[in-house]
Amino acid sequence: KPVVAVVGRPNVGKSTLVNRILGRRAAVVQDVPGVTRDRVSYDAEWSGRQFVLVDTGGWASDASGMAAMIAEQAEFAISTADAVLFVVDATVGTTDEDEAVVQVLRQSRKPIVVAANKVDDARGEAEAATMWNLGLGEPHPVSAMHGRGSGDLLDALIDVLPERPASYETTGGPRRVAIVGKPNVGKSSLLNRLARQNRAVVSDVSGTTVDPVDELVTVGSTLYQFIDTAGLRKRVKEASGHEYYASLRTQTAIERAEVCVVVIDASESISDQDLRILTMVEEAGRAMVIAYNKWDLTDEERRRYLEREIERDVQAYAWAPRVNISALKGRNVDKLEKAIETAADGWETRISTGKLNAFLGRLAAAHPHPVRGGKQPRILFGTQAHNCPPTFALFTTGMFDQGYVRFIIRRLREDFGFAGSPVHVEIRPRE
Ligand code: GDP
Repeated sequence: KPVVAVVGRPNVGKSTLVNRILGRRAAVVQDVPGVTRDRVSYDAEWSGRQFVLVDTGGWASDASGMAAMIAEQAEFAISTADAVLFVVDATVGTTDEDEAVVQVLRQSRKPIVVAANKVDDARGEAEAATMWNLGLGEPHPVSAMHGRGSGDLLDALIDVLPERPASYETTGGPRRVAIVGKPNVGKSSLLNRLARQNRAVVSDVSGTTVDPVDELVTVGSTLYQFIDTAGLRKRVKEASGHEYYASLRTQTAIERAEVCVVVIDASESISDQDLRILTMVEEAGRAMVIAYNKWDLTDEERRRYLEREIERDVQAYAWAPRVNISALKGRNVDKLEKAIETAADGWETRISTGKLNAFLGRLAAAHPHPVRGGKQPRILFGTQAHNCPPTFALFTTGMFDQGYVRFIIRRLREDFGFAGSPVHVEIRPRE
């Protein structure tokens, strides 16, 4: 279930609003896995959507002070919640503290719904409207005390809740990511950077078994399991000097992963070893992101040359998102995180049979398969045989040219995305 954090200054009415949302039913108090015990969460439901509501109101109203409270609430919202219900007091207007919270919340990239509380009658609506100045979108006037506007507020909240529950409750366990590449391209540096900029989860997470060589890191709203990080941390690979073992290790990591980040040293020529790793990932059918690291070391000339190398050698992997990064300086690491998510999504995509056949119909009408030996092979019907990676089975009246199959794949990508994922098409002639 998605987690909603209720955030706001003391006395804006967070707890009253939580009670209003929960209705008269006795709230079931439970722990959210991975969250310490003094944080109180409740099961809530609206329009058939279930979610967990976390009241941050009880925290740190003591000596630790406002700044600490803001930091803690925001930190929680960023690390664990899927959405934030930000409560302000419409009768007071926005305060400096509100602004401070907003600044931190924005960085979390979580969906935020603003509740302008204490609007007990129509006259208060104008005051609520001034809350637009928070820059968080439409403020929803509500009276937690009397219930006025709470239905509309909940509708808005349900709208922004992510479909797939993020982080701690993914049923299939966290997404598995392998950082691969030849020695010294900066894999360990990248892992350190990712763990530092995000939340490294140390304790075990319910429903997942994590290999001790792996590491859990929450990136954005999603929990990721980084594969074989012990190998990166302890520098096992170079110690032995056996390329065979390094290669075996890479191969195993790729097989265990869903998404592979292939790190290439942008300051040096692309080598055969780099290309072998790209091929390994593609042949394993994994999602892929290519990170050109050490960008800080490249000059104009090197970059121009790199573009030529990429065009010549890496063109076949143009489906994989490319990010130029500096693990050392932190450049574009956020872009890389986005790309990992995109690739994982593309890898898991399912297209309905109806949509697929509508697409195939349009395609065949506009660009039919060339006539071969007096016959024109046609597509009878298509279906997505499976995902991870997306694989389509096309039932046809004869064999298809490889060139035409590549054309179909290109068009599938244009219409449906799949960025970062291999796409397979199998032709099944019905003789
Ligand atoms: P690994 O063998 O792939 O894990 O590579 P390391 O992470 O150990 O990095 C190898 C060397 O490259 C180290 O000296 C790092 O400090 C350096 N390095 C890694 N990333 C960058 C980067 O983005 N810029 C620069 N200038 N150096 C980097």
